[in-house]
Amino acid sequence: MSLALGRTYLAIPGPSVMPDQVLQAMHRPSPNIYEGELVELTQSVIADLKYVARTKHHVAIYIANGHGVWEAALANIAEPGDRLLQIATGAFGHGWADMVRSMGIEVDVLDFGRNSTYDPEAVREALQNHNYKAVLTTHVDTSTSIKNDIAQVRRILDETGSEALLAVDCIASLGCDHFEMDDWGVDVMVAACQKGLMVPAGVGFVFCNETARQRRHTLNRVSSYWDWEPRIAPDLYFQHFCGTAPTHHIYGLRAALDLIKDEGIEQVWRRHEILAHALWAAIDVWSHTGAMALNVADPALRSHAVTAASLGAPHGTNLRRWAETKAGLTLGIGLGMATEEDPRADGFIRFGHMGHLNAQMMLAAIATTQAGLMAIGAPLASGAVDAAAQIIAQNA
Ligand SMILES: *Cc1c(COP(=O)(O)O)cnc(C)c1O
Repeated sequence: MSLALGRTYLAIPGPSVMPDQVLQAMHRPSPNIYEGELVELTQSVIADLKYVARTKHHVAIYIANGHGVWEAALANIAEPGDRLLQIATGAFGHGWADMVRSMGIEVDVLDFGRNSTYDPEAVREALQNHNYKAVLTTHVDTSTSIKNDIAQVRRILDETGSEALLAVDCIASLGCDHFEMDDWGVDVMVAACQKGLMVPAGVGFVFCNETARQRRHTLNRVSSYWDWEPRIAPDLYFQHFCGTAPTHHIYGLRAALDLIKDEGIEQVWRRHEILAHALWAAIDVWSHTGAMALNVADPALRSHAVTAASLGAPHGTNLRRWAETKAGLTLGIGLGMATEEDPRADGFIRFGHMGHLNAQMMLAAIATTQAGLMAIGAPLASGAVDAAAQIIAQNA
């Protein structure tokens, strides 16, 4: 018997739930792409993207997913012959480094595993020993749900006198976790629209400051499609996108940014924080019997937008299947925790709790997970839903 009919919750870490306002804004015929409303909307979207990123500097918009803006950022700050440093705390850190190599650029990867943040001393030592052109890292690595202290990376760069640019992947964290591009001294930041920004996948962003723009001007060659300069300072509107504008995404983004601005970015961060704590309180209770364990032990190092957890194989896969087919809740697969052929891969899940999410959605996801654990015969502790409800009651 399936009880899945009704409004479902896509609780994977991207794409996230689309607000009705976004869906409705995108449900329209194509506009004139040369003048009028779309041109004005684009300017307002650019201004509000900077509001969300906490920067006074620049943003280039690409018709691309997260992988696309990884490449876009690299194309403007590095070239063959350069050496970069990647601080990896999960699969996405490694993925970005793979892309660096594929562009013929050298990269040293500091791998800090799947359960902890980076070791500042190891980063300091690497910076003292090599002349890196850029340090790349993820704010939140979505595979492990580890959140890294970005301001501290900037301090280490300054203390070691390194001139490396600081480039940060905020694809999973922008519009969810507290982030300060300018105050934390971030030179380049990449994000995409389908996570905290609540718009279907298809548009990505590269934010950059003047230091990064100067680096761009020292490069021998930047392909005209990836070049951020015309996108940042176009003479003609189409140069924002090196061609036809992503018309419907601009309408969708306008609606999503209105939601964020109406709520206020600090309040958006706080909402994510409280809802994440509710989930963690429930998982803490489940962990008493070994039904489930959080991937990251220290709450200060956990993302507020995605939570990676382990149940032991095959409970992870069984829970996901049950929740989706019986109850309309789609949970995320584990990523980068074990190879696909490894039977242990069936033991991991991720909860996506980014973007358009409120207390009743989170409580329903937790209670549904509780039902799923019962149904699949996981070793159960009681009180998880109560623990989550208490967090909501205390903080709402
Ligand atoms: C989702 C994600 C990516 C990849 O984005 P795609 O749109 O799937 O290419 C990269 N980095 C992080 C941190 C992500 O969360």
